[in-house]
Amino acid sequence: MSHVDVTIEGIAVSPGIGIGQACVLSTPDIDTGQGRMLSASVPAAGRHTARNVDAELARIEEAVTQAIADLQALRAQTEARLGANEAAIFDAHRMMLEDPEFRSAIDARIREEGAGAEAAVQNTADQYIALFDAIDDEYLKARAGDVRDIASRLLRLLTSGAQDTAVLPNQVTHPLFGQTILIAEELSPSDTVSLDPVNVAGIATVRGGATSHAAILAKSLGIPAIAGAADLLQQARFEDTVIIDGDAGIAILRPSPETTALYENRQEEQRRILRELESQKGQPSVTLDGCAIELFGNIGSPSDVQAVLENGGEGVGLFRTEFLFMERSRPPTEDEQYDAYRQVAEAFGEKPVTVRTLDAGGDKELPYLDLPTEDNPFLGLRAIRLCLAHPNLFETQIRAILRAGVHGNLRMMLPMINTVDEVRQAKAIIDKVKGDLKRDGVSFCADVPLGIMIETPAAALHADALAEEVEFFSIGTNDLIQYTLACDRGNPDTASLYTPYHPAVLSLISASIQSANRAGIPVGLCGEAASDEKLIPVFLAIGIDSLSMAAGFIPRTRAAIRRSRCEQPEGYIEALLQLPDAAAVEMYLEM
Ligand code: PEP
Ligand code: MG
Repeated sequence: MSHVDVTIEGIAVSPGIGIGQACVLSTPDIDTGQGRMLSASVPAAGRHTARNVDAELARIEEAVTQAIADLQALRAQTEARLGANEAAIFDAHRMMLEDPEFRSAIDARIREEGAGAEAAVQNTADQYIALFDAIDDEYLKARAGDVRDIASRLLRLLTSGAQDTAVLPNQVTHPLFGQTILIAEELSPSDTVSLDPVNVAGIATVRGGATSHAAILAKSLGIPAIAGAADLLQQARFEDTVIIDGDAGIAILRPSPETTALYENRQEEQRRILRELESQKGQPSVTLDGCAIELFGNIGSPSDVQAVLENGGEGVGLFRTEFLFMERSRPPTEDEQYDAYRQVAEAFGEKPVTVRTLDAGGDKELPYLDLPTEDNPFLGLRAIRLCLAHPNLFETQIRAILRAGVHGNLRMMLPMINTVDEVRQAKAIIDKVKGDLKRDGVSFCADVPLGIMIETPAAALHADALAEEVEFFSIGTNDLIQYTLACDRGNPDTASLYTPYHPAVLSLISASIQSANRAGIPVGLCGEAASDEKLIPVFLAIGIDSLSMAAGFIPRTRAAIRRSRCEQPEGYIEALLQLPDAAAVEMYLEM
């Protein structure tokens, strides 16, 4: 019987072809046997329910030993990739696991209360969390977050059973896993940031969209990814061969040798094109009719700088600083932030580096802030709103940015601005911080330019007034699309509705660029649409000054700019904006 490939249709979220062996993760709620549920990514495997004291103690022993080993491995990987500061959190977690008091509290619940291992961990963790939460000290309060992390790690290990297939997201980076295709219900941004492209050849998730933050990270790591892959999660077995086609948004499960060979050829062809683009690195990003467009990189930490420089980025158009705040149990200190911003500023010298102030909330959770659960986190206390509600957090970051400004050409950018008042409130805080730094005799740059992101229809429609307040704009299309089309950026079920080609989205982009041009301030675009080759001529025709994207997309965008013109026939943009829908826009752009 001839082999028939199983093709699974999803949506494209990070381009490229990945071929490897399946590693399936599922994300059920963990039942601790106490009516308590703790949600975490755990491998598909059974859960123990035995209440035999010795057996439960042995399970705890095994889970703690494994957790300590995992933390040591994670620490080494994180130090190599992100530096010692970021790695230190894993030492704190390990020390807590090794703490005899914590351990004997867990054991006592098993021995004395007849609790199962999971319940013993959960109840002990709850007790510690309550104790830390009650203390009126920010540092000690943050320890509650550490306890939560440790408890969830232990619970994942306990619920994963002793199966050979038991794999946690962070263990996927183990060299033994080779070319892994990671298949999961959902990956959080922090799961994704800890993946290593050397080992992870592709990602397929059920949830997520092309501009969800996990997808953005997959793109910057160069890992092909698709979402909407529920069938793959159901059908794939551990170590099945899987091909991820991140361009077409499909996965092929257990492909025939012929199909594999076909995709290997495509992979080779893509590598050849990349090598060719790399060879054009030194060329200027200038259109055929002589318009120069600045091409910047988007980064999430100093470790991304090298890739931007290697790809010929002319600066950083978006430093997503929130990633410095993730994977930790408390916010980075002023000095930790200063070090990170300074490193990036120095690496780029005269070239601009746009540091976006903390854009947490939405899908980027900071557990240590202990924020209330929201019905609609993307419409909630997110980005600038969160910072204005937590002035200490905001002031610390501003101090660090202004201090680092001395070492290069930094710019400061506020996310998700809706109103002039928000800008004025932020400016008042910035002025206060400048006063404090002056009073304290700390050296800082007093004229770091201030800009805002245009990410909501309100900002785009009110851009003339906002332009009076700031020195530059950057259009965040990832959010602008979701807020304009009322369409979640991470939901595969509405992915076909989420598009930059909708005439309403393009009208708002056009309005924002025109407002900036009228006010004489520079305007860039830093959402995923910045590297969309079909849209580049549109952005150029309306008057964009810069585009910022994941480093890997800079060479092909430069080539696209060099093939484009700024000038378009009279009425070209007006006609485009009058088209009835996204499909008509796409056709128009392909003509
Ligand atoms: C955007 O919304 O387009 C953007 C660049 O910000 P983020 O993707 O981090 O929300
Ligand atoms: Mg955004």
